[in-house]
Amino acid sequence: MTQSQAGAQVDLPVEVLLPDGSKKSMDPGSTAADLAKSISEGLFRKSVGALINKEIRDLYTELQQGDVVQILTEKDKESIELLRHSTAHVMAEAVQSLFPQARIAIGPTIEDGFYYDFEIADHNISSEDLLKIEERMTEIVKQNQQIVRHCIENVDEQIAIFKSQGEKFKAELLEEHREHNPTLYLMKDKDGTVVWNDLCRGPHLPNTSFIKAFKLMKVSGSYWRADEKREHLQRVYATAWWSKKDLDAYLQKLEEAEKRDHRKLAKQLDLFSVHEEVGPGLIFWHPNLATVRDVIEDFWRKEHRRRGYQFVYTPHIASEELYRVSGHLENYGENMYAPMDIDGDPYRCKPMNCPGHIMIYKNRLRSYRDLPLRFAELGTVYRYERSGVLHGMLRVRGFTQDDSHIFCTPEQLEGEIDGVLDLIDKLMTTFGYTYKCYLSTRPEKSLGTDEEWAMATGGLENALIKRGIDYEVDAGGGVFYAPKIDVKLFDAIGREWQGPTIQVDLNLPKRFDVSYIGEDGSRHQAVMVHRAVLGSMERFCGGLIEHYAGSFPFWLAPTQVAVLPIADRHHDFCDKLMTRLLDNDFRAQLDARAETVNYRIREAQMQQTPYMVVIGDKEQEEGKVALRHRRDGQIGLLSVDELIERFKKERAEFA
Ligand SMILES: [Zn+2]
Ligand SMILES: [Zn+2]
Repeated sequence: MTQSQAGAQVDLPVEVLLPDGSKKSMDPGSTAADLAKSISEGLFRKSVGALINKEIRDLYTELQQGDVVQILTEKDKESIELLRHSTAHVMAEAVQSLFPQARIAIGPTIEDGFYYDFEIADHNISSEDLLKIEERMTEIVKQNQQIVRHCIENVDEQIAIFKSQGEKFKAELLEEHREHNPTLYLMKDKDGTVVWNDLCRGPHLPNTSFIKAFKLMKVSGSYWRADEKREHLQRVYATAWWSKKDLDAYLQKLEEAEKRDHRKLAKQLDLFSVHEEVGPGLIFWHPNLATVRDVIEDFWRKEHRRRGYQFVYTPHIASEELYRVSGHLENYGENMYAPMDIDGDPYRCKPMNCPGHIMIYKNRLRSYRDLPLRFAELGTVYRYERSGVLHGMLRVRGFTQDDSHIFCTPEQLEGEIDGVLDLIDKLMTTFGYTYKCYLSTRPEKSLGTDEEWAMATGGLENALIKRGIDYEVDAGGGVFYAPKIDVKLFDAIGREWQGPTIQVDLNLPKRFDVSYIGEDGSRHQAVMVHRAVLGSMERFCGGLIEHYAGSFPFWLAPTQVAVLPIADRHHDFCDKLMTRLLDNDFRAQLDARAETVNYRIREAQMQQTPYMVVIGDKEQEEGKVALRHRRDGQIGLLSVDELIERFKKERAEFA
């Protein structure tokens, strides 16, 4: 069926390699589909494409001598691209059949789905249109159209065809790619008639029968080539999955994620704000979230103190010279803000805390007996981020890192990493995160000697092994001056978050001559470890809001208990109760507004306050309180002592 390649005159069998290393001899002109068939009819029926020499290709791609071929089915993670991208074409076909004036731009896959850009004269796609397009797509899929690759032999002729059809974007793209063996993909019905085609380099599914579950999500505006001087386009976002079950699970996860959006919850629960007049990416912490942060910081300090860390503070600005020596100006300059002039000298906002901690280390001569030194700082840094990537508290321009630098001898390194891993485990499990560790090793371009890299990487890896932590190696994924451990967190709904990092720096100790006097009486270069466990307070708290869906556990809740008197005559009792609670360090709030008790209970629940205590005649007489929980409702009558005991116990379960 396929024309044999020029030069392959002799009909020698084509030998290909299968993923298990075995060889298979095929007739010349055989395609990956033939290979699948030769393995089993069952495999062929499930085949959606092929991985040929690690590249995803159409199932009907002709095999060449020596190709390494893996047949792809739904089970292979690479295949979802084929599904989503092919569904994008079906969507474009449906749009043009409903809106013949629609002109087609591009339709790439994106995370969890795809989009397609259209120019539609005199019509804005509405949400009803999306349903109609979906219906039309279902009809196309039912026809089981074949998706067939077709090489464009005469580019000029095809450009003329596109132009006559008004497909100016396709004409423009083809002109640009005329030298790259451009292809059309033809949609054929069961009689083999071409019903639609699109300019695309592929690959695609062999036919539409594999498309079973998709949904159009939304429409938004875009520009041809993302250039606002060019044509305004309508972008339809959609998603596609191998089964209805997968699609439903995805949609449910989206819905759940939307409910948990920290920016949305921030408004409901009065947590933080960002102000246009102040500038994007700069966070204002409102009292509620500032309280949560305060509790986390206390806990953080306690856990660090007991592990031998010492707290330091360093200035927010420093002479540019510091960042010249550190190399930040050279290697990190584009993330730093412009210099400010102080007495004729350039100063910079600090992008990192490391040089500051080194200043403290170097302020006196250190001996091996002083080591390890563990300096920790909740250090605020400022880094430039493009405005387009800023996102609530998760991507900002000013933030406070829970930063620490450990200075030690090479012999101490493994033990220090072990200590950091222990701290990470304590902190992450306290917040209810599960996590996974990745070890990133030396990249191709790097500073330092083989010996140094072996010492640094060995320190990280041995500590992981000794603790019995399951980790994955990201070969060559380290930074140019350091191997590192990255920890990924999984939140309450299974989403992945960037977590703690540990780096063993082979650069800064040299640049700043960070050294100590060894047992032998001579100078040695110290080993320097950078580590952040929470990352930044902004990112971590933003993530926590979503992780807990705004419902902070008792020990973190901004208000732990709302005290609700039924009538004015119960105020005295409530005042006394408030004093007892506050004296015991509980965050209690009296709500004595002239609203009904039910209204005030509802409001406390909306604010995710863990407990409410209600005081009426009966309670006052007996010196008791009626306790309610935000989810479990009525708990019962407790004496004030019992209440305090209960709260103390619950608080102690965590930090
Ligand atoms: Zn395509
Ligand atoms: Zn650092």
